[in-house]
Amino acid sequence: MNEYDSDRIKNALDAEPTDDPGSADIIIINTCAIREKADQKAFSSLGKYKTLKANDPDKIVGISGCVAQLYGDQLLKKMPHIDFVLGPRAIPKLPAIISEIEREKRKTVETSYDIEELFEIEPYHQEGKVTAFVSVQQGCNKRCTYCIVPRVRGSEVNRPLEDILRETTNLVNKGVREITFIGQTVNSWKENGYKFRDLLRAAGDIEDLDRIRFTTSYPRDITKKMIDAMSDVPQICHHLHLPVQSGSDKVLGGMKRTYTREWYVDTVKRLKDAMPDIAISTDIIIGFPGETDKDFEQTMSLMREIEFESSFSFKFSPRPGTVAAEYAAEDAVDPEVASERLYELQAYQKEITSTKNKNRVGFIEDVLVEGESKNDPEFLSGRTDHNRILNFKGPKDLVGKTVKVKVTEGLLNSLRGELVV
Ligand code: SAM
Repeated sequence: MNEYDSDRIKNALDAEPTDDPGSADIIIINTCAIREKADQKAFSSLGKYKTLKANDPDKIVGISGCVAQLYGDQLLKKMPHIDFVLGPRAIPKLPAIISEIEREKRKTVETSYDIEELFEIEPYHQEGKVTAFVSVQQGCNKRCTYCIVPRVRGSEVNRPLEDILRETTNLVNKGVREITFIGQTVNSWKENGYKFRDLLRAAGDIEDLDRIRFTTSYPRDITKKMIDAMSDVPQICHHLHLPVQSGSDKVLGGMKRTYTREWYVDTVKRLKDAMPDIAISTDIIIGFPGETDKDFEQTMSLMREIEFESSFSFKFSPRPGTVAAEYAAEDAVDPEVASERLYELQAYQKEITSTKNKNRVGFIEDVLVEGESKNDPEFLSGRTDHNRILNFKGPKDLVGKTVKVKVTEGLLNSLRGELVV
């Protein structure tokens, strides 16, 4: 989501991006507030530009994204070298804000939720890139007690179907072959009588779009009709990121996730019945207030029961204004205990991911070739249908094509293989 917003910012400015802040006319730190660490990172990045601004007062320095929304004008007081503060919904207002600052040398804070042109600025697209994100939704209507998203991104607003299909088709016309629809709870998307399954089926009709992915799905909103669309539309990849957060019903209740462990396990079963090869990945929060050893053991037993393809796991971080931050004031888990649990869970996940990758050896995978491998330009790199990175040797003109690759090696974070000709 943040990457997508950064690309929208690049497009809104219609300026040449640079990696050298010293030579930039405008510096914008786009931020995430989901965990405390992320917002501390934003402050330290902003601090770095103090001297640059002092030496060149015409340089414009701004902060955008969720930290900007969370702290608003307090940021101008805390960091007087900043020229503007821009909430995540206000990206379409950026060009006007920059012109105003240049003209009137006045600081600006724009954190309104009510932005009419919400979806108007589409992201910058780097020529030759064969994958792209398309936003289908802003904000969130769920009320998970730990999560700051509804506060910083506002309530859910769904983008019209025609807009989504137009942006997708434009990207395909520029050479994109894989689209990932993004939204906080992407499968809750509904608009003008259409449901998420209708969006999936309509995207399946776009010519030359080879692959469709979407993230992040909310477990409770996985319906039979959505599963049917996933198994019927051949372009939809058989990979689903489905955050479970915990394996303990008590913790899930405290998080207000609206499902039980049994319900989640049954949903995974329904997905696997329809698509036996589907790869499921997840998010886990460790150390939610009140999490006992027994609760954590239930999370570990869920990890063993489902054997997720991969998982992102985080230590609970109390966020300002959330209900769980109040629970944490009374019922916090000892940070050392939380670290030990996180370590145990991550070590187990590594084992599972590594075994699953090794088990792919000998399989022939369809790979959409994205470019040269980052670690070794001798290799081409792409993803399998199940979202595993697969590196192999082949001619550069395969970029953008889907090719067959035989897996020869399963590593922890990727696969290696040989092109099948
Ligand atoms: N909207 C999505 C959802 O919750 O299903 C994704 C939200 S967030 C960008 C990605 C992940 O961050 C969540 O799934 C959750 O595991 C984690 N997260 C959110 N708030 C957190 C918090 N206060 N402390 C630790 N992890 C958190």
